[in-house]
Amino acid sequence: MHKSTVLIIEDNEINREILEAILEDDYNLLIAENGKQGMELLSAHTADIDVVLLDIQMPVMNGYEVLEAVSNDLNLRHIPIIVTTGDDGLDVEEHCLTLHATDFIKKPYNPLIVRLRVENLIRMRNFAATLNDVEIDKQTGVYTRNAFMIYAQQWIDSHPDLDMTLAMTDVRGFKRLNEQMGDSSFEILRRVVEEIRNAYPENTIIGTYNIDQIIYLHPTITGKDMSNEEKEEWYETRFRSLSKDMDVVIKAGICENFDTTRRLMGHVNNVWEALREAKKIYGRYSRFVSKDLLDKLQRNARIEDLMEKALKNGEMQVYYQPKHDAKTEKLVGAEALMRWISPELGFVSPGEFIPVFEKNGFVSMADAFVWRETCKNQRKWIDNCLKVVPISVNASRHDFAHKDLEQFIIKPLQDNGIAEHLMHIEITESLFENLSSEAFNLLQDFRHRGIKIELDDFGTGYSSLNSLSELPIDTVKFDMSFVRKLSDPRKQKVMKGCVSMIKDLELSSVAEGVEDAETRKMIADMGIDSIQGYYYSKPLPAAEFEEYLAKQK
Ligand code: C2E
Ligand code: MG
Ligand code: MG
Repeated sequence: MHKSTVLIIEDNEINREILEAILEDDYNLLIAENGKQGMELLSAHTADIDVVLLDIQMPVMNGYEVLEAVSNDLNLRHIPIIVTTGDDGLDVEEHCLTLHATDFIKKPYNPLIVRLRVENLIRMRNFAATLNDVEIDKQTGVYTRNAFMIYAQQWIDSHPDLDMTLAMTDVRGFKRLNEQMGDSSFEILRRVVEEIRNAYPENTIIGTYNIDQIIYLHPTITGKDMSNEEKEEWYETRFRSLSKDMDVVIKAGICENFDTTRRLMGHVNNVWEALREAKKIYGRYSRFVSKDLLDKLQRNARIEDLMEKALKNGEMQVYYQPKHDAKTEKLVGAEALMRWISPELGFVSPGEFIPVFEKNGFVSMADAFVWRETCKNQRKWIDNCLKVVPISVNASRHDFAHKDLEQFIIKPLQDNGIAEHLMHIEITESLFENLSSEAFNLLQDFRHRGIKIELDDFGTGYSSLNSLSELPIDTVKFDMSFVRKLSDPRKQKVMKGCVSMIKDLELSSVAEGVEDAETRKMIADMGIDSIQGYYYSKPLPAAEFEEYLAKQK
C-alpha cells in the first residue's frame, strides 16, 4: 500500500523520537534537526512530502522563517504544515496563521491527537487533489467545461452590475493536428491560453469547451464610446494578428454585455453558434453574437419544433431536376431535391433546413421520405408509360448510422417493384472521412445490387483526386462552384484534367449549376457525360416533372 510521507523538523532529540515512535508504523518519515535542513529536504522531496510537522524554537533557522520561506515558494506553498507548539501563548498561533500554517499540535504530545491531525490533513489534501483532477483540464491547465460553467456563473452572480464578455476560440484543423502529433499538439492550445491570460484582465475565467475550443469570461474591455462595427473590427484585428503570430488560424465567437440575468448556457450556445459562423467564412476571424444571428437561431429552433409535423402533414415535397446527356442532350436522369412550404415559416430552402436536420439527425427521416416518394413516383411514371430515367437521391452522414438503412433503401424498391438501376444515391466526400467500415461495405453492397453511387459536391472540400480510385463510387458530380469559375482559363484546364482522369478511372461525370449555353458547350467539349442546371430546367414539382417526362422522345 502507498504510504504518505511526513517531514519532521524538530531540534529537540526527545521530541523527535516521540514523534517518530507515534508515526513510523503508518508513514514514511523524513527527519530534520533544524529549519535549514528542513528546507533542504523540502526542496529535494517536494513531490513526496504530504505533511510537515514544524517546531518553532530552533537554532540556525527557526519555524517562522521556514513558514515564510515556504509561503513564498510557488512549488512548496501547497504543502500543509502543522506547527508543534509548547506553552508559547496565543500570539505564536496568530503569527503562524498569518504565515499560512495549517494546524497546531500542543506539546506534550497526545499520540492519538497527533495521528488524527496528520491523517485528517492528508485526507483533505487527497480530496483537493482529486477535485483538482476533475476541475482542471490536464493539457491546458484551465478549467474543464463543467468547472468553467460553475465558476463563471458564480462570478456573474456575485458581480451583477458588471458588463461581461463571453468568448470562445477554435483552432482550425486542430483535430487533424492532434491525430498526427498526439499530445504535443496541445502546445498550440496552451499558447492560446497564455495569449488570453496576457491580453485580458487578471480575473478572466478560462475553460475548455471541446477538445480544441477555449471559452472565457471577462469584464468587457472595449470602450463604451465604440460603435458595434468598431468593436467587431477591433476583435477581428486581434484574432487575425494572433493567427499570424502563431501560424495557425484561430477564430472566435464573441458576446459582449450579455443579459446576465439569463442562464449562462444559453449565451454559451450563442457564442458557439457565432464561432461556427466565423468558421464558415474564409479570411474571417471573429463573429459577434448579433441580432441577425439570434434571429437565425430562433428560426432554426422553430424549424426543429415544426419539422416532424410538417413531414407528416405533407408540407415537405420532392422536386425533380432533370439531367441531360452532354452530347445528345437527351434526358438521362434527375436529382430529387426536397422542398418545404410551411404555413408559418413560408418557403424554407434546403440550404436552411438541411443543416438543421443534419444537426439533430432528422435528416435521415427526410431522406427516407424522399427515397420512398421517389420510388412511388417512378412506379407511377412506369405505369403511365412515360420515359423512365434513374433518379438520384441525396443521402447524409446520419443515414449511415441508421441500423435499418438496408430496410429503408431496399423495401421501397421491392414494395414498388422498382429495378435497382433506376435509383442512385448521392453522397458527399466529407461523408467518407469518418465512415465506418460497416457503412463502407453497405455502399459496396448497394453497388453490387445495381444502385449507383454518385460523389456530390466534388471540388468543395478537400477532394483529392487520389482518393477517387479508392472510394466505392460510380459517378463524380462537379459542384456548382467549379462551374462558376470557368471564365478563368486555368480553372478550365483543371476541370478538363479532372474529367479525363475520371474517365481513365472508368467513372462517369456530371456537372451541376450550368445556367447558360456558353458554359454548357464548354463543359460538353471537355468530355463530361451529363449536365444538370437551370439551362435545362429548375427543380420541378412531381406533376411538372411528369409533364417534362411526357415531352421527351
Ligand atoms: P446539391 O445536392 O448539390 O443540389 C444541387 C443544388 O443546386 C440544388 O439546390 C439545386 O436547386 C441547385 N441548382 C441546380 N442547378 C442550378 C443552377 O443552374 N443554378 C443555381 N443557382 N442553382 C442550381 P437546393 O435544392 O436548394 O439544395 C441545396 C442542397 O440541399 C443540396 O445540394 C443538398 O446538399 C441539400 N438537399 C436538398 N434536398 C435534400 C435531401 O432530400 N436530402 C439531403 N440529405 N440533402 C438535400
Ligand atoms: Mg445532390
Ligand atoms: Mg451538389
